[in-house]
Amino acid sequence: MPYPTQPTSSHFINGRYVEDTAGTPLPVIYPATGEQIATLHMATPAIVEQALTAARAAQAAWAATSGAERGRILRRAADMIRERNHDLSILETYDTGKPLQETLVADASSGADALEYFGGMAATLTGEHIPLGNGNWAYTVREALGVCVGIGAWNYPTQIACWKAAPALACGNAMVFKPSETTPLCALKIAEILHEAGLPAGLYNVIQGAGEVGKSLVTDARVDKVSLTGSVPTGRKVYAAAAEGMKHVTMELGGKSPLVIFDDADLDDAVGGAILGNFYSSGQVCSNGTRVFVQKGIKEAFLARLAERLEGAQIGDPLDEATSFGPMVSEGQLGIVERYIAKGVEEGARLVAGGKRLAGNGFFIEPTVFADVSDDMIIAREEIFGPVMCVLDFDDEAEVLARANDTEYGLAAGVFTRDLARAHRMVAGFRAGTCFINSYNDAPVEVPFGGVKASGVGRENSKAAIEHYSQRKSVFVRMGRVEAPF
Ligand code: NDP
Repeated sequence: MPYPTQPTSSHFINGRYVEDTAGTPLPVIYPATGEQIATLHMATPAIVEQALTAARAAQAAWAATSGAERGRILRRAADMIRERNHDLSILETYDTGKPLQETLVADASSGADALEYFGGMAATLTGEHIPLGNGNWAYTVREALGVCVGIGAWNYPTQIACWKAAPALACGNAMVFKPSETTPLCALKIAEILHEAGLPAGLYNVIQGAGEVGKSLVTDARVDKVSLTGSVPTGRKVYAAAAEGMKHVTMELGGKSPLVIFDDADLDDAVGGAILGNFYSSGQVCSNGTRVFVQKGIKEAFLARLAERLEGAQIGDPLDEATSFGPMVSEGQLGIVERYIAKGVEEGARLVAGGKRLAGNGFFIEPTVFADVSDDMIIAREEIFGPVMCVLDFDDEAEVLARANDTEYGLAAGVFTRDLARAHRMVAGFRAGTCFINSYNDAPVEVPFGGVKASGVGRENSKAAIEHYSQRKSVFVRMGRVEAPF
């Protein structure tokens, strides 16, 4: 394979790499060239069994380890990830096609942040003492859930692996993680590093496969919790399957988030926010502000400045650090985006930038902007998950808030204005899990991340994630005699 730090086998189970060539071959395609750079194998039922058995066997002893010791291992892994950031970033670029300019600062480093944060928190996870009068009292114990299954999307394979592993392991759980079949490489390296950092065997296992493997994990009786990052249709299926077994869930799903730009906004900041919220990672970001509502007074200036700034996009070889815009993750995703662009034209939206596939074997499509988009167009209603910005006009605050909320999704929302009272009114009205004022798409580990409505259930990152990877046991202690009626 042409890249460093390649994983040596398809799966990582019980502290070591494992291969089973009986599994369906899984080609790994480099999105920038269309070349096949590796072949892995999907998990057979025997591999699924090995992973769940290993996780179940290792979990109780891990939960009995002190939080300080668990945290030390996670923080050591964070340091190792930072030391190896360059190689891990190249691997992320091969897996996803995202430019190295991005992966060097946004992927392994964000994974390390999560391991450091939850590693630091592990020793602080305690229960409480509840005095009840008459000398009686109760206490609560924060306990691990058991075996957690993580299922990842393909846009941030390293980050998603770490965002799920860090709180799960900090709380004393074991995890079986299934990456997206489109980006199977990065999570294997995270498993390898966690174990090199001292994580006992069996606590973080990675197995490959498509939806069928995910399904067999979600429906297994030994699994206590499922954390999915994926689309809403997959989320509905996984949530329903988890409900059957009464399992805990975290659902990080899709969005069609609004980004509202008022006349008084700083023009360059607003354009910068719209670029970050639509074209970073070639638009393959769940929280993207893809419905850009621009107040009529600033609309033409906004579109003109946006066109100028788009001229500066460096599209091409993702391994060249000057490149700022890479390919789509796969031929399939490229096709989906092309079909949405054709739909936008057909629906009568005005194509003001991009729209074309680039020549060559890579999966490149230009950053694309539609103006004069109306609320009922399909491109304004459905998640495209590609570099397609829809610009919609509006007149006033009440109108735009109602339109911004008129969607089944509720992942994120943003507002650009110099009037901070208005900004806070807008945020109070947004039905979204994550909001931005004069910014877009920040996701620091200290802040809860997640959606409302169809965009998901639960929160990742921050102290909030602890609630989703642990549960409380209540213990009542009677100090006096037991008084029974007979
Ligand atoms: P998918 O929903 O297609 O897949 C997500 C994961 O679920 C994949 O690993 C997939 O396997 C697996 N899967 C599919 N069917 C099942 C099933 N029945 N049971 C168990 N697992 C299953 O999403 P994409 O990978 O296409 O990712 C894009 C989506 O993810 C977008 O909607 C995006 O908004 C969302 N997303 C949400 C984020 C958030 O934090 N809210 C962050 C990033 C992305 P396989 O693909 O291998 O078949």
